[in-house]
Amino acid sequence: MRRMPAANPHLARLPVYEPGRPIEEVARELGLDPARVIKLASNENPLGPSPKALVAMREAAARAHIYPDGNGFLLRRKLARKHGVDLAQVVLGNGSNEIIEFLGHAYLAPDDEMVISQYAFAIYEIVGRIFQARVVEVPAREHGHDLDAMLRAITPKTRLVFVANPNNPTGTAVASAALRDFILAVPSHTLVVIDEAYQEFLTDALDTPALIARQPNLVIMRTFSKAQGLAGLRIGYGLAAPEVAAALHKVRQPFNANLIAQAAALAALDDAEHIRRTVGTVAEGRRFLETELGRRGIPFVPSCANFILLRVGDGNRVFQELMRRGVIVRPMQGYRLPEWIRVTVGTGAENQTFLRALDEVGVKKA
Ligand SMILES: *Cc1c(COP(=O)(O)O)cnc(C)c1O
Repeated sequence: MRRMPAANPHLARLPVYEPGRPIEEVARELGLDPARVIKLASNENPLGPSPKALVAMREAAARAHIYPDGNGFLLRRKLARKHGVDLAQVVLGNGSNEIIEFLGHAYLAPDDEMVISQYAFAIYEIVGRIFQARVVEVPAREHGHDLDAMLRAITPKTRLVFVANPNNPTGTAVASAALRDFILAVPSHTLVVIDEAYQEFLTDALDTPALIARQPNLVIMRTFSKAQGLAGLRIGYGLAAPEVAAALHKVRQPFNANLIAQAAALAALDDAEHIRRTVGTVAEGRRFLETELGRRGIPFVPSCANFILLRVGDGNRVFQELMRRGVIVRPMQGYRLPEWIRVTVGTGAENQTFLRALDEVGVKKA
């Protein structure tokens, strides 16, 4: 028998994050032509990256033998100006997922508490449990966050409370006035973390960065993975009071944001037109999908983001059957929503392909 040291015992019960399945892997496994497989599983931008970002990536690729600026100066300065904060308040991450991990490193110790909502983004709980915190899950209200109940769940031991707005995988959002009241009501011993990965798709967005000066326990997370179309580069950021940002910088690896990602993100910030087109395409596609689901009597959660959670009966069966037809969506058992799947809003053609496949597969109504 092979002998080796055991991993830390709390890892045995750690939930495993199941990412959206890659096109190449699905095609290989099912003997499909990868050119005919579409991925509507990870809320990526159906239009691709900004053309300006593409030019910047090509140019940066020629400098790939040089370490990136570990300080991320140009990108952080641009983000600081955009959000009206100081450079020191901007922390770059290898995706905003890495900011979640920094929060764990800097603020969680065993037996600390962390408050999340039922159906919250899965990474919060995983990070909480890696750091052996007690993860307190507050029941959702109509699949969305119950902010009053989350406030009541905060105890003297609560170090972090997470709100994703809009939330993934439900697509729900809280009203901006309610979010503002919530942020200002969180006691000062708790960091209130607002995850704004889908912020660009909101019609009623709160200027959360402006609240940091008044509420220094506030952390904002944003990403270039969704509306900005740079998911493959892994780049996101956090905004926080200087003291909080300093703690997050301490636990960061020196070159966590790579050279090509920094260059692409910098260029993408100059392409407001690409964001406008993306938001327009998503709004139109979402309206189309929601109308078509409604006509078929398929229940769904009205979405404020670029994906829709819909109830199909046996979510895993529908996921598998769609995949055989070259459409990758996301099964939801991991979120304890086994009757549901989540589909990303794609291009017009992709949305049609999804619906055609869904009609073939058939949905069992509860
Ligand atoms: C996609 C997503 C993120 C961002 O992920 P990256 O690591 O930046 O790619 C963060 N939060 C939520 C809720 C998301 O859905």
